[in-house]
Parts: sequence; structure tokens; C-alpha cells
Amino acid sequence: MVVREFSAGGVVLRKMRGRWFLAVIEPHMTQPKKSPKRSNRPPEKTALVALPKGAIDKGEKPEQTAVREVSEETGVQANLVTKLADIKYYYVRNWGDGARVFKIVSFYLLLYRSGRLGNISPDMRIEVQNAYWLPLEDARKTLSYAGEREVAKSALQYLKAHPELGDHATDTPH
Ligand code: ATP
Repeated sequence: MVVREFSAGGVVLRKMRGRWFLAVIEPHMTQPKKSPKRSNRPPEKTALVALPKGAIDKGEKPEQTAVREVSEETGVQANLVTKLADIKYYYVRNWGDGARVFKIVSFYLLLYRSGRLGNISPDMRIEVQNAYWLPLEDARKTLSYAGEREVAKSALQYLKAHPELGDHATDTPH
């Protein structure tokens, strides 16, 4: 049996000193680093780098989820700009029923408004170990999932087509 899950998330852009950054998180999860075979050292763990996202609550619109999850997982407030893309993947639950899950995540482009990255609740710290501003041009080599790298690419394309977005962007880091 295949279960479906629907989530939504955001690419939060912020301009600082003339450069564009996006908010990324390191979820509390590790993946083994590719290490040479025949090494008897335990595999090194490397952090996952991902976009903020989460499950769409009952009665919530996906764009509202994106804004809410961005705020909860990163600590910043951001304004909705446009929808970017839906990404889809399968995974197998390693808890409970062990179901195979087909998941659709809708991603939106948001513009930073206020708040400090990493200013999150103690509960959220269990899920998010780190949050930081990543230069937009590094997104395609740093984000862990191919689907999210594609989403960051569409954010970059949107920005190129709408350079006026930077006119209203906050330019002072704090
Ligand atoms: P949410 O943040 O939507 O509440 P979650 O934290 O419960 O979700 P996911 O982030 O979807 O769950 O992770 C479930 C599984 O899917 C994990 O094994 C994760 O590594 C994998 N996964 C997460 N994002 C992607 C992606 N974009 N592409 C492929 N696999 C992914």
C-alpha cells in the first residue's frame, strides 16, 4: 500500500551587501559520507542541508504552510512572492507501519521580512540542528536533495527575470 503525504516549504531569499542568500536548515538526521571501501573507520556523518518545509495542516493552504514552516523552522518572517514548483519522491517510513510513502512538496518563493535565523523554539531544536544563510549561487552544490536543488534553480531564474525584487529587499544584516 502506498500512503500519500503533502507538505509545503519555502525558498526564503534575502539580499545582504548586494548578494542574494537563501535560508537553509540542517535537519537532525545524518547520512553516511561516501567513504573509500575497505576502510575500517566508522563512516563519517555529514549534515543534510535542506529547505524549510512541513506537513500541510487541515484547512491550511499550501502557501500558508510554507510561511508558517519557514517561521517555525528558521525563526524568520517572510513574504510570499510566487509558487516555484512541486517536487515528488517516494520513501519508506522507518517507524510505525513502515508504509511506502508518495510525497508531494509544494515550494514557494518568499522574501525575507524580519527576524533572526536560528531563533527557534526549544521543541524545534530537536528537529533542526542548524539554520544559516547560504549564498544563492552555492545552492546547487550544497542542498542535499536533487529536487530541492531544482527548486533553488527556479528561484534563481525567477530573480533574473524579476530584478526589481531586490529593490524592496532588506540589505542590512543583523
Ligand atoms: P516534513 O518536513 O514534510 O514534515 P518529514 O521530516 O517527516 O517531512 P521528509 O523530510 O520528507 O519527512 O523525509 C522523509 C524521508 O524522505 C527521509 O528519508 C528523507 O531523507 C527523504 N527525503 C526528504 N526530502 C527528500 C527529497 N527532496 N528527495 C528525496 N528524498 C527526500
